[in-house]
Amino acid sequence: MKRKFWSKQLLDLVPYTPGEQPKINDLIKLNTNENPYPPSPKISQLLTHFDIDHLRRYPDPQSSDLSQTLAHYYKVAVDNIFIGNGSDEVLAHAFMAFFRQQQPILMPDISYSFYTVYCDLYDIKARAIPIEDDFSINLAKYEIDNGGIIFANPNAPTGGTVSLSQIEQLLKINSQSLVIVDEAYVDFGAESAVALTQKYDNCLVIQTLSKSRALAGLRIGYAIGNKNLIEALERVKNSFNSYPLDMLAQACAKTAIEDDEYFQTSLKKIIDTRTWTEKQLTALNFKVLPSNTNFLFVHHKKLAAIEIMQYLRDNNILVRHFNKEKINNYLRISIGTQQQMQALLECLKKLMAKEDC
Ligand SMILES: *Cc1c(COP(=O)(O)O)cnc(C)c1O
Repeated sequence: MKRKFWSKQLLDLVPYTPGEQPKINDLIKLNTNENPYPPSPKISQLLTHFDIDHLRRYPDPQSSDLSQTLAHYYKVAVDNIFIGNGSDEVLAHAFMAFFRQQQPILMPDISYSFYTVYCDLYDIKARAIPIEDDFSINLAKYEIDNGGIIFANPNAPTGGTVSLSQIEQLLKINSQSLVIVDEAYVDFGAESAVALTQKYDNCLVIQTLSKSRALAGLRIGYAIGNKNLIEALERVKNSFNSYPLDMLAQACAKTAIEDDEYFQTSLKKIIDTRTWTEKQLTALNFKVLPSNTNFLFVHHKKLAAIEIMQYLRDNNILVRHFNKEKINNYLRISIGTQQQMQALLECLKKLMAKEDC
C-alpha cells in the first residue's frame, strides 16, 4: 500500500543521504562541513531592519542585485552568473540542461555522491573514472569520448585539488563537451577556474555560500560561465521554479559577499585550525590526506574507521563515514572551532590510550 501510485522510475531512485542533523544540544557536529563560525554580523542588522511588508510580494526572480554583487566580486559580467536555491539545485539544473547526451558523462569514482543521484533522476549515463592510488584526480584519464565531465575541485570527500593548468589542458582537448567544476570548497585554499570560464566556452564553475560563507541554512548557490550556458540554466529554472531564492536569502547573500573582511578573517581561523588538527592527528597515527577544504579525510593505521566513529559518537562528536569501497576505512572530519577540535583530539587520545595504540 505504501508505494501506491509511485512511478517505476521513482521506485528505482536511490536518493542522496545528507549527514544527519540531530536535535541534541551539546553535540560537536563535524559531519556536514558546515562552517563553525556564524555568517557576517551585518546580516543580523539587515534582518533586524527588514520591513516585513516586502514579504507580500514575490521576490526578484533573477536575484538581480545579488547577481550584480557576484559579478562585481568575480570580475565577470552579470549575464555570466546563474543563481539557484543551493548549489545542489544549480547542479541539478546543469545535469538536466547539459548532460542528457548520447555519450556517458565522466566523473571520479570517489566524489560528491549527489552526482550519481542526478544521473538516475534524469536518466543520464555516467562512467566513473577511478581516482589514483593516492586518491588524487588524474584529468588525463578524462581525455576520452564523453557527453560531459564533472568533478569537484577540491574533491569531496577526499579534499585534494587539481591545478588550473591541468583543468585548462582538459578544456582545450575536450572542446566538444561541457566541463563542470564544482568549487564548493575552493575558498579554503584551491585555485578557482572562474577565469577559465571567460576563455573557454565549455567551462562552467559552480560555487555555494553554504560552506565558506556559513550560509548553509539559507540555500544559495551559483554558476559562473559564458552567456550561452547561463541562458540554458535560466531556461531550465524558468521551466521548474521562477523564484528559487526568497527575498531574505537574496539580501543576506549580498551582504555576506560584500563583507569581505569578515569573510577573510573567518577563513583564516578555519585554515589555521585545519593545519593544527592535521598535525595533531598525524601524531596520533592517523594518515591525513592533504586538504584545501574545511575538512580532513583520514584513516587510522590501527583502528577501524567505524570503531572510531562510534566512540566519538558515544562522546557526542559526529564525523562522517561513507560506506563505499575504497574509502570505507576513512572518516571525513569537518573543521570546527579550535575549541571543538581540541575536544575531538582529547577524545581520540582517550580512545588511543584505551585501545593501547
Ligand atoms: C556541500 C556541497 C554542495 C552543496 O552545496 P549547497 O549549496 O549547500 O547545496 C555541492 N557540492 C559539493 C562538492 C559539496 O560538498
